Amino acid sequence: MVDLLPEHTPLWQQLESTAREHFRRAAIREIRTPLLEATELFARGIGEATDVVGKEMYTFIDRGERSCTLRPEGTASVVRAAIQHGLLAQGPQRLWYGGPMFRYERPQAGRQRQFHQIGVELLGVADATSDAEAIAVAWDLLADLGVGGLQLEINSLGSADDRLRYRAELVSWLEAHHDQLDADSQKCISTNPLRVLDSKNADTQALLAGAPTLAAALCGDSHERFSQVRQALEALGIPFVLNPRLVRGLDYYGHTAFEITSSQLGAQATVCGGGRYDGLVEQLGGPATAAVGWAIGLERLVLLLSQAQGAIAAAAAPDLYVISRGAAAERLALGLCRQGRQAGLVVERDASGAAFAKQFKRADKSGAVWAAVAGEEEAAEAVVVLKHLRDPQRQDRRLPIGAAVQELLGRE
Ligand code: ATP
Ligand code: MG
Repeated sequence: MVDLLPEHTPLWQQLESTAREHFRRAAIREIRTPLLEATELFARGIGEATDVVGKEMYTFIDRGERSCTLRPEGTASVVRAAIQHGLLAQGPQRLWYGGPMFRYERPQAGRQRQFHQIGVELLGVADATSDAEAIAVAWDLLADLGVGGLQLEINSLGSADDRLRYRAELVSWLEAHHDQLDADSQKCISTNPLRVLDSKNADTQALLAGAPTLAAALCGDSHERFSQVRQALEALGIPFVLNPRLVRGLDYYGHTAFEITSSQLGAQATVCGGGRYDGLVEQLGGPATAAVGWAIGLERLVLLLSQAQGAIAAAAAPDLYVISRGAAAERLALGLCRQGRQAGLVVERDASGAAFAKQFKRADKSGAVWAAVAGEEEAAEAVVVLKHLRDPQRQDRRLPIGAAVQELLGRE
């Protein structure tokens, strides 16, 4: 698990505030759910046979002998909350969430055990244009953040019946090719055969070129629905590629499934994953409710955007750096800091009591344009010396603290 140090948080804050603004404009409202849920929620919601539930969850027994799990994803929790609070009776719900998720995976670049997602869930919307709308919100957000090399891949997983039929076909094909499959895929045949399509093993991928396809197993209605989604994306001018092998890692998806990848990421190329999950709400005990959603992994976005980090850090420099030495001067400096902050300035105080030269060095390093300096003499007169740190030609000014703040506000 990873600490986010102060040098990293400005970029995170910028990502989060851009996302919040996009959600606001799309009339998508925030929901916050607990990090801890009953294990059963994920076992039932995500599916026992998935990697997430089978081997990635942080599960423990609490002091009340209940099995608890740190959430590995957000959708099941959002759906639980929507059911529990009767939100679905109030009409369609357009919700977003964000925060840490936990999966026991092998850590590597872009893959952590505690990681962060932001996600959108549109509950109570069945039409194909809603799939395109959800995708457009993710696409526009990523584009606005400046993520390069984006590619949208989509597929249709069809209806539950389509998948049952296809599953049987695929299983007999996989069994016939059992010995040519990698060990992981062999294990999946009986538990989660569709997952084999998504195998990362190159030999298995090559072999699968000859496997029956989901597309061929879709019934007429599913085909029609998928073509409506594609038409809506075309109308929006959002480019996509069809990926007939795209299946998501969570069991609840049907019909539209999609991923947004970036060519600028290495092996962990998927930044956003999502799709339609019309059966989940009912499966978790709620009223039959169509739904579509997605999640973006923030760590991978941060990897993509870390070039921008320097500029964001520079923008975080204080407006004023306050230097003082001696007890009375320190009190005066403290008052100046407070007044400046109350007026809206970003003010950093040097509390070291070190020699002025040392404090000036730190002021310079802080990136501040202005310094205010107080020594014993200034304290006796209740003034500070305002110094421009970047232009030595500028005259210093001796001002009482209120006037110093006004002066800086006037100059921004
Ligand atoms: P992957 O195939 O990369 O494991 P996934 O299918 O498990 O992804 P989802 O459950 O759909 O991923 O999560 C959506 C997004 O969350 C992913 O596309 C990725 O950006 C991010 N994500 C998932 N697991 C991790 C992790 N362990 N560390 C960092 N980010 C992650
Ligand atoms: Mg995964």
